[in-house]
Amino acid sequence: MASEKHFKYVILGGGVAAGYAAKEFANQGVQPGELAIISKESVAPYERPALSKGYLFPQNAARLPGFHTCVGSGGEKLLPEWYAEKGIELILSTEIVKADLASKTLTSAAGATFTYETLLIATGSSTIKLTDFGVQGAEANNILYLRDIDDADKLVAAMQAKKDGKAVVVGGGYIGLELSAALKINNFDVSMIYPEPWCMPRLFTAGIAHFYEGYYTSKGINIVKGTYASGFDADANGDVSVVKLKDGRALDADIVIVGVGGRPLTGLFKGQVEEEKGGLKTDAFFETSVAGVYAIGDVASFPMKLYNEPRRVEHVDHARKSAEQAVKAIKGKESGETVAEYDYLPYFYSRSFDIAWQFYGDNVGESVLFGDNDPAAAKAKFGTYWVKDGKVLGVFLEGGSADEYQAIAKVARAQPPVADLEALGKEGLDFAAKI
Ligand code: FAD
Repeated sequence: MASEKHFKYVILGGGVAAGYAAKEFANQGVQPGELAIISKESVAPYERPALSKGYLFPQNAARLPGFHTCVGSGGEKLLPEWYAEKGIELILSTEIVKADLASKTLTSAAGATFTYETLLIATGSSTIKLTDFGVQGAEANNILYLRDIDDADKLVAAMQAKKDGKAVVVGGGYIGLELSAALKINNFDVSMIYPEPWCMPRLFTAGIAHFYEGYYTSKGINIVKGTYASGFDADANGDVSVVKLKDGRALDADIVIVGVGGRPLTGLFKGQVEEEKGGLKTDAFFETSVAGVYAIGDVASFPMKLYNEPRRVEHVDHARKSAEQAVKAIKGKESGETVAEYDYLPYFYSRSFDIAWQFYGDNVGESVLFGDNDPAAAKAKFGTYWVKDGKVLGVFLEGGSADEYQAIAKVARAQPPVADLEALGKEGLDFAAKI
C-alpha cells in the first residue's frame, strides 16, 4: 500500500526558498516531526546561483556540500545532518504530481500521500525548452538547459566529452552571459546568439550592454545578435553538430546551451489559488487566497510595497527573504505576535570572468549613464541611474566596492529627488555617497 504521512508544516520544493524557510522554522522553534520538505531533487536545498558560476570552474569547482543553503547569504551551511538533528524530514527524489488544497493532501508520482496543516509552495521555475516550440532538431544530444544540479552535471559531462570544442549559447540573458563565460574559461570556442539588439535588454540599457558585449568580445566570444536558432543538425550519434540561424547563417557546435527564460511552476494549483502576473497571488505575508497555504520565492506574486503594485521576482535574494517572512508570519499567527508587512527592495547581481555588478530598485524612466563604460578600461567602474518623475528609482553598478554597493542600495530605497540629469551623470557615484 502507498504510504501516507502527516506533518504540521510541509514545504513543497527543495530549492533556495525551502532551505531558508527551514532555517527560519528552526530559529522560531519547530518540534521534531512537525516539518517536512518534499523535493523532486535528490539533494538537500542549495544555493542555485552557484550552478552557473563556481560549479563550472575548470579548477576548484564548487561541489556539494560546499554550497548548501544558507551559505550564500553568509549563514550556516545546512547539511543533511542538520535537518536530521532538528527532526526536519527531507523527503527527496519525490515529485508531487497532485495537490488537493481542499483536503490538504499532496500526492507523489509514486502514489505516496502527504497531508499538512500549513503548506508553503516553493516550487520555483522550470526552464523554457526549444522543444516546447517545436524547433527543428532541438531534441539532439548535447542541447542542454540549466536549472538544477542534474542539469549542471550533464553540462559538466558534456564539457568533458567535447573538450576544447565549439559551444553555442542560445539566449542573451544573465544565464547566457554567465554560461558563455564559463564555457570560455573551460577553453571552448564560444558563440552567443540572441535576437535582441543587445544583451540583457530587460535590465541593461544600450550603454550598459556596450561594456559587456565589448568585454566578452575581447575575451574571444563571438556575439551574434538580431537572429535566433531556427533548427539544429545532428551527427550519426545524434549529437548536435550545427545550429541553423533564422538569417540563413549556420554555426558548428559540439554543445548548445539554451537560456531563454523560465516559467513559474504553478500548474499543480490551477483553479485552486488566485493567480496574478503569472504567479500565485499572495498578501504581504505570502499567504495565498487559500488560508494556511503560502507561496514563496519565484512562484509568488506579492504586493511590492515600495512601488505599490503586485510583482513577481525571480531572484535569489527575494527567495531567501520571502521564505523568512512567510515563516515569521506563520509562527506569528500562532503566537499572536504581529509581523511587519514585507517591504522588499529589488536586488539582483551577476558575475562572470573577473567582472561583477549589482542592481537595486526599479529600472523605469530615463536612464543616466555614469563612469567609464569602455570595455578596454583596465578596471571598469561605471553605472546607471534610472530617474522617473524627478526621483531616482534604480541604480546599476559594475565593479563597485562593498561600501559603494551599499550606497546605491540606499539610493534605490530612499528615491532622492534629482532635477538635472546631466549633472547627475557627471556626479556619478558621488551622488550616491551623499545619500
Ligand atoms: P528553486 O530554487 O528553483 O527551487 C524549487 C524547488 O522545487 C526545486 O528543488 C524543484 O526541484 C522543486 N520542485 C518543483 N516542482 C516540484 C514538484 N512538483 N514536486 C517536488 N519538488 C518540486 N538569482 C540571482 O539573484 N542571482 C544569480 O546570480 C542567479 N543565478 C542563477 C543561476 C541559475 C543557473 C539559476 C537556475 C537561477 C539563478 N538565479 C539567480 C535565480 C535564483 O536561483 C532563483 O530565483 C531561486 O532559486 C528561486 O528560489 P525558489 O526556492 O523559488 O526556487
